[in-house]
Amino acid sequence: MTDIFDVAVIGGGIAGASFAYRVAKDRTLVLLEREAHVGYHSTGRSAAEFSRQFQIPSTGLLADGSFDFFANPPEGFTEVPLLLPRGNLVIAEAERMGDIDAAFREVLETSPETRMLHPDDALAMVPFLRPGYTAGAFYDPANWDMEVDSLLQGYLRSARHDGADIRTNCAVTAVNRENGYFRLETPAGEIRARTIVNAAGAWADGLAEMAGLQPLGIVPHRRTAITVDVPEQYDLSTMPGVAEVAEDFYFKPESGRLMVSPADATPSEACDAQPEDIDIAYAAHFLEQSTILPVRTIAHKWAGLRSFAPDKRQVVGFDPRDPAFFWLAGQGGSGILTSPALSAWAAGLFMRAAPPRQLQDLGLSPDYFSPSRLGI
Ligand SMILES: Cc1cc2nc3c(=O)[nH]c(=O)nc-3n(C[C@H](O)[C@H](O)[C@H](O)COP(=O)(O)OP(=O)(O)OC[C@H]3O[C@@H](n4cnc5c(N)ncnc54)[C@H](O)[C@@H]3O)c2cc1C
Repeated sequence: MTDIFDVAVIGGGIAGASFAYRVAKDRTLVLLEREAHVGYHSTGRSAAEFSRQFQIPSTGLLADGSFDFFANPPEGFTEVPLLLPRGNLVIAEAERMGDIDAAFREVLETSPETRMLHPDDALAMVPFLRPGYTAGAFYDPANWDMEVDSLLQGYLRSARHDGADIRTNCAVTAVNRENGYFRLETPAGEIRARTIVNAAGAWADGLAEMAGLQPLGIVPHRRTAITVDVPEQYDLSTMPGVAEVAEDFYFKPESGRLMVSPADATPSEACDAQPEDIDIAYAAHFLEQSTILPVRTIAHKWAGLRSFAPDKRQVVGFDPRDPAFFWLAGQGGSGILTSPALSAWAAGLFMRAAPPRQLQDLGLSPDYFSPSRLGI
């Protein structure tokens, strides 16, 4: 085994794994993950939702470009379906009826099966909604639960099969240059690579600084979730997710319980994010306000980081200040659902080929995600 690679991918979340999946057959590749397990940070803490609803335009197009991969994954990629139908019910209180009309029209443009509902029909779909809370509602069937771990493991299994060297417990602690190589210091020794792929999630700017580059302003934002038990009389398996129209909160079935998020987005340091009491309290409050479910105990609580560039768009491409440093960062709240298309896009640019035609045809120009747009 060599310790000089064509490419060192730094970060073992969905970004790094999907990139390795695309590129390992053409380049010698090592993927370095600081934690003992891949997917420990944002990737393992998501709401696992595939939806085009309320996404920024680039994310909507990447979702379109990713759907086929989820629906028809390559032979042998996974033993379970990557998408399970869920559906999404959007609800509004009386004072937000204007918002629901606007949101309905927006969603209808890309999800033609979406339909307005009478509040009684919303109650029939989710029988524990608080009578009188929901004044307006619509239902969008184009919403799925994703099998995130199967997706992550599928990417990695295939990358390993193509020769990728996946190393956990392997934090990159310093990045130096020597004779045209990057020299990466890790607790397990030094690794050399011709190029670096920055798939470090919340640490993306920190990694750039380690490599001597000014950061791009990619800021992690904390988001919290709790799960609560629901009385057995309610069959969660067939219930849709529920989102408040202004995204004050959302809840959805998750492994036999109800996951609730107050949809917080608090700027944070890059860290092992932990839920704050105030956000847990908000999650419980929103659930009790909009449903008749009392929150007696919280089965599970967590927080994760969603990292955004200043313009919220994903950041993909070689850094103009260092042509061997490649960005794959800023996936925000959609890094999992966009990973099939975004990794294909990234691999195209990384190989100095054109990004996939199918995505360009959807309306994405080759420099759409380029780090240069951020003023460097
Ligand atoms: C509550 C919540 C709900 C979400 N819901 C959804 C959803 O429904 N759908 C969706 O698509 N997305 C969702 N997201 C967003 C999604 O989780 C992220 O966009 C995605 O996981 C980002 O993946 P990543 O690989 O960039 O980051 P990460 O998964 O955080 O991976 C980055 C990795 O880099 C490693 N690393 C960093 N620095 C170093 C270093 N120096 N050396 C070695 N390793 C390093 C870290 O340890 C980390 O494991 C949600 C996020 C949260 C928090």
